[in-house]
Amino acid sequence: MKIFNTMSKQKEEFIPLREGEVSIYVCGPTVYNLIHIGNARPMIIFDTVRRYLMYKGYKVNYVSNFTDVDDKIIRQAQLEGVTSEEISQRYIEECKKDMAGMNVMPATVHPQATQEIDGMIEMITQLIDKGFAYVAADGTVYFRVKMDKEYGKLSHKNLDDLQSGFREIKVSGEDQKEDPLDFVLWKPKKEGEPYWESPWCQGRPGWHIECSVMSRKYLGEQIDIHAGGEDLIFPHHENEIAQSECCNGKTFAKYWMHNAFLNIDNHKMSKSLGNFRTVREISEKYDLQVLRFFMLSAHYRSPLNFSADLMEASRNALERIVEAASRLRDRIAAGEDGPLTPEQEELLSQADEFVRKFEEAMDDDFNTADAVAAVFELVKFANTNAGEGTGAAFAKELLSRLEKLCDVLGLVTDKKEESLDDTVEALIEERQAARKAKNFARADEIRDQLLGMGIVLKDTREGVKWQRA
Ligand code: AMP
Ligand code: ZN
Repeated sequence: MKIFNTMSKQKEEFIPLREGEVSIYVCGPTVYNLIHIGNARPMIIFDTVRRYLMYKGYKVNYVSNFTDVDDKIIRQAQLEGVTSEEISQRYIEECKKDMAGMNVMPATVHPQATQEIDGMIEMITQLIDKGFAYVAADGTVYFRVKMDKEYGKLSHKNLDDLQSGFREIKVSGEDQKEDPLDFVLWKPKKEGEPYWESPWCQGRPGWHIECSVMSRKYLGEQIDIHAGGEDLIFPHHENEIAQSECCNGKTFAKYWMHNAFLNIDNHKMSKSLGNFRTVREISEKYDLQVLRFFMLSAHYRSPLNFSADLMEASRNALERIVEAASRLRDRIAAGEDGPLTPEQEELLSQADEFVRKFEEAMDDDFNTADAVAAVFELVKFANTNAGEGTGAAFAKELLSRLEKLCDVLGLVTDKKEESLDDTVEALIEERQAARKAKNFARADEIRDQLLGMGIVLKDTREGVKWQRA
């Protein structure tokens, strides 16, 4: 299995640090708003990486943080007149709902920055003791970038170029820095902001330190895969490497994986540009499985442009998979469970060829676009070779292959029970209440109103049932 490593800019053979186990750390969202579908891209991609590694038999420890202390969270809290904690907790819960909708498995651990302050203070202290960090007059702690001889190795930037770039921009507090490249590990509180006690000042951590600390705490000093969107390569991941490697004296992560952007009209989707669609908005129009399918239809290192056409195409494609699985289930229910015929044995070895193609695509740096194509070959094969009258055994074999591959992609092949929108649901409830109150005129009125909306009600002994007209 090969993984493209941002560090070497090459596909490398994947060899885990510990046999049979893989540790993954994925930088998670800053929680001050509903997540947008750009944030959903790394979630879906690295969940699929995780699922494929599990399929290959690895035990996967997967850690993904929530950044719950940040300027944007504080600003939102001030805007709403509530605490930062209320904002971050609210959006962590909402994010988890979106993840569940996209069939993204919960991480082994989802640490939160505000719960890990002690560990951050410990690591910053270690960095100061080793000479990699210093305390300025106002209590700000900076990382001394020049002390790290390997700084820039992930982003392939050289220190001289970075320095001349930095001279152009004046960053606040720069006059206290030994060097413009130095970055903040701890900063003093400002009025009205959350803060913690520390040996240097009452304040809060810089952004980068949390990932170094949580990764070490939950996965150890060295991990197999560190991942996130490509905007994190510099400075975030570069700084994480500086902190972790200078502190622990060991290579931090063996493989660095970065997804390309999800764009809209060929611009990166981002909260600051205001060109974003939230996952929640998408869920009002589509099953989030469609969004997942859409994300997997491109290779993760290629930019992907969001469009209504592509979403429609994804909806139709996904429907074909679900239909094929449903037909196989019908064959299983209807067919005799006899042994496979020799012809069927032969057909199954042909079906295994698509499974092999799927694995080959995923082994090649998780080429989900080709993997999806292999699933469609299997779908077409099943549609052609498992017609009516096919025995249950053969249909079962095909279905289990299809389900196994879809499971790696995180696609659910069950037909979903259709749900009603809130207005319809409320009308049905109101009608029930009217009937109970013996207000049959109102009950009939609502029945007619629903009929006008294409919903037919049936009163049965088990309660009221509905169907589309
Ligand atoms: P943030 O909340 O901005 O720190 O982002 C959380 C994760 O989403 C990071 O891994 C980002 O790299 C990723 N991300 C944000 N916007 C996009 C986008 N438009 N396309 C792909 N990934 C993105
Ligand atoms: Zn991070």
